[in-house]
Formats: sequence, C-alpha cells, structure tokens
Amino acid sequence: MKNIFETLKHYYGYDAFRPGQQELIEAILKGEDVLGVMPTGGGKSLCYQIPAIAMDGLTLVISPLISLMKDQVDALQTMGVRAAYINSQLSYTDQQMIMEEASRGELDLLYVSPERLGNHQFMSYASGWNLDLIAVDEAHCVSQWGHDFRPSYQRIPELMAVLPSRPVFAAFTATATKIVQEDMIDQLRLNDPFKHIASFDRPNLYFSVVKPKKKAAELLKIIDKKESSIIYCNTRKNVDKVYSTLMKKGYPVTYYHAGISSDERTRHQEEFLYDRKPIMVATNAFGMGIDKSNVRNVIHYNMPLDMESYYQEAGRAGRDGAPSEAILFYSAQDIITNTMLIEQGNSPYARQNLNAMITYCKTGDCLRKSILKYFDQKVQWQACDYCSNCDGESVITDITVESQKILSCIYRMKQTYGTGLITDVLRGKNTKRIQQLGFDELSTHGIMSEYTDGDIKDMIAIMLSEGYLQLSGDSYPIIKFTQQTNDLLQAKVTLSIRKQLKQDSAPKQKTVE
Ligand code: ADP
Repeated sequence: MKNIFETLKHYYGYDAFRPGQQELIEAILKGEDVLGVMPTGGGKSLCYQIPAIAMDGLTLVISPLISLMKDQVDALQTMGVRAAYINSQLSYTDQQMIMEEASRGELDLLYVSPERLGNHQFMSYASGWNLDLIAVDEAHCVSQWGHDFRPSYQRIPELMAVLPSRPVFAAFTATATKIVQEDMIDQLRLNDPFKHIASFDRPNLYFSVVKPKKKAAELLKIIDKKESSIIYCNTRKNVDKVYSTLMKKGYPVTYYHAGISSDERTRHQEEFLYDRKPIMVATNAFGMGIDKSNVRNVIHYNMPLDMESYYQEAGRAGRDGAPSEAILFYSAQDIITNTMLIEQGNSPYARQNLNAMITYCKTGDCLRKSILKYFDQKVQWQACDYCSNCDGESVITDITVESQKILSCIYRMKQTYGTGLITDVLRGKNTKRIQQLGFDELSTHGIMSEYTDGDIKDMIAIMLSEGYLQLSGDSYPIIKFTQQTNDLLQAKVTLSIRKQLKQDSAPKQKTVE
C-alpha cells in the first residue's frame, strides 16, 4: 500500500493536503468513522477517494447528484482508478454488469444514489460485497432539521443491516449547524466519529442586507456588465422578470430554472460558466456542483427560506479568494410569502429556519458574526468591518408602541383580514370596502396615518416572524393572534426594527486583509 502522500501525488498530482484532509483520511484508514464538514470546493471527495484507493475492498459512495457522479467517475477512471456508478440512466444490463464487477472485487469505488438502496436486487448484491468503507456525500440530507431533507437517505442504516460486517462510515457535508451535525451522527449511526469541522468564515466576502424601495432599480445600481454575478430569485416568474429587465438594458445575461428543457439548461449554464454571459438569473435549482471561481456577486433578489441555503448560495461568490459580495434583498412581502409557504408545507422545522433567516435580515449586529454564530462557530471579534452593518449603515428603532396599535386594530377587525386591509384601516383610508365593513368607525381607524404602507407592512412582517402574529386561511391569508400576542400587548416584551440609513449596498471599500 502506497502512503497517502504518494497516492496524492501519483493520482492527483497535488503536493499537499488541504486543511482537514490528512486527518480525515488517516482516521478512516485507522478504521474510525468520520464526519467531515467542509465548504464546497474544500476537497471532500479526496477524503474518501484516497482511502478507497489505499484499501483492498470496495468503497461505496452515496451521492445524490447523478450528474456529479458521472463527472467524478470519469475523472477517477482517467487517473487509472477502478471506479463505476450505477444509476437509473444506465441500462439494466450495464447495471447488472457493474454489480457483478463489484462482486468479483474488481472495483475500488462504486457511486450510487440513495434511492438505489430501495432496490432489492442491489441490496442483495451489496450484502455479498467486500465493503471497506461507505462514504456519504451531502450527508445533511439525512436530517429533517436541515434544509435539504431527502427521505431516501434514511435507507442508509437499512444497508448496514444487510451487511455481514460493518464497514467504516464517512459522512461529508458543506453546510451544517450543530443540531444537523448531531442528527446526522444519530441518523447514520456513526460510531463516535472523528470530526473535522472547517471554519465557515469567508473573509473575502462582503455581506450586505438591503431592503430596497425598488428592487429592480437597486439591482441595476449594483450589477456590472463586466463582472460575473448570480442573481437568485424565489420563483420562475421572478427569474423571467429580472432576466428581461437586464436583457432590455443590454446586460450579458442568461437564466436557469427547472421550467426550461434540459438542453437549454445545459446551454445557459455553459454560457455562464465560460463567461459568454457572465450574469446568471436563476432559481435555487441552479448551482449545485457548479464550480465557477470568478463570481463577484451573489445577489438574492428575494429572501431565502433558511440560513443554510442562503449561505450555501452566497458562498458561490469569490471562490478564487478575490473580494466579492453577497447581497441579500428583502421586503416585507418576502417575509409574508415565505411564512405562507412554510405554513402550507409540513416540515416542523421550517418555521424555526425561516425565523433565523428573518433575524439575519433584521439584525443590527455584524452580519458575518450572525452567520458564524448560526453555524455554532466561535467568533473572537465584535465587528468584522466588512459587512453592511459594520459599515454603520443601519439604526435600530423600538416599535413596541406601534405594534400594540397594530394589534389592537387587528383585534377590532376580529382577526379575519389580511395585511392589505389592516394597513388601510390603520392609515385611515376611506375606501368603499372599509365603509361597508364599518371599519371607518373603529377607534383604530387612522391611528397610524403618519406611517407609509411599507412601514406598517414591515412591522406586521416582524410580528409574524417573531411569532406575535400568525397567518391562516386557505384562499387568502388572514392575520391572527398567537399565544404570545398578549406579551407584546401588555409590553412584557419589546419589539424593534432595523432601518437602513441609506439604500446603497455597495461597500465603502473593497479591500481584504
Ligand atoms: P467538495 O466535494 O468539497 O466540494 P472537491 O472534492 O470537488 O470539493 O474538490 C474541489 C477541487 O479541489 C477539485 O478540483 C479537487 O481536485 C481540488 N483539490 C482537492 N484537494 C486538493 C489538494 N489537496 N490540493 C489541490 N487541489 C485539491
């Protein structure tokens, strides 16, 4: 058996390991289970490929992305490693042939998707293999606490049950909070694993949160024809809208979402990758497995549903280490839309995840610190001096009294209406509908006439995110009280809002130490 440094040089041509790789590889070779949490592009694949090459038996790699599987196997075969994959795109005969090869001990690595573990024939073959290692890629998918739960990952322990002896288990992910990490260890039944958790800090990324009055206008201020940028939108409709705005203004832009044909997707992706069209407008369907190092801006046109997705997407900026920006646009409408979305779904954790996202948008604290704290990483400093909050662009205002006015209006409207009508009543509008319903007679009619619609909607959005209000109703969302509402009405708690002083997301200076 070659030592691991020789393997690194011989097969990959690299001279040194990246942080964590050597420790993870050595632990696996000692027979220990491992958990590797490293950023995308950090070099996770090598951590199981080198042991796979070094060990006698087979390494089974469980990976969710069929396209990546093929790329990895092609690369390994080119290096002279005996690797293969099985997925539904292969013919039955080919699948059969590869399983036979594995049975004859002719493979070092075999890639399969987690769904494959539901196939009886596969499981019966697998029970006869000489398996040294099972490597689980994107292992956070096993956890319901994560942002990308896939039930098929829970089949992995079933595989363990059919094996005559337990191989080493190695789990890898790019994004995980402590809760997800613990859950991954439990769900995958890792045995007191050696852990390597890389730092999540990205010092070359300038983080900013902006609440633009007009998102399209703000976007045009930021975006540069010569720089590569990704603009993430929450819906295909918004992708189309933003794309055509930029198109009309002559920007070199392309787009991507699940609604276009796979040929088009490939073409658009390539236009972006090779900088023929350096600006990409996309839904979150775009990005997994994309390795473009010179992306200067990742702009979220809408607020994502959770911090893990946000950080993963934002992290696609500045892979080359050069100064880059992660800019998040949000609006009260985003908070309302996202709240509705998660209330329609049935994930018990989505609410918590969304609240963390909203807190990130509203915080007056250092944005980098907020992110790292969310990922349970130790932070030694108070301010990073390289995010929009550290630039001192925002102030915090107490809105306890305003929120009490809103609550008393909702109460008087019998908790049966949505944001629009509540706002109109508070501002003292005299529409036909308001008169018909007699809301112009309420004592709360016009008690917030000095505020704009946007101000009031912001406050309602914050009350929703903090759990002082909730949305219900099937055909259109109705705003109702919660068990916590009384605390705010009785001023047992206070509520505050962060306001930006200037609607400009550009950093003051773009230097990285
Ligand atoms: P991840 O799976 O963590 O996203 P990959 O395993 O795909 O990352 O690695 C990203 C890139 O870094 C690949 O091109 C890989 O060959 C390269 N790489 C990995 N380890 C090293 C190393 N020790 N030295 C140089 N390049 C490396």
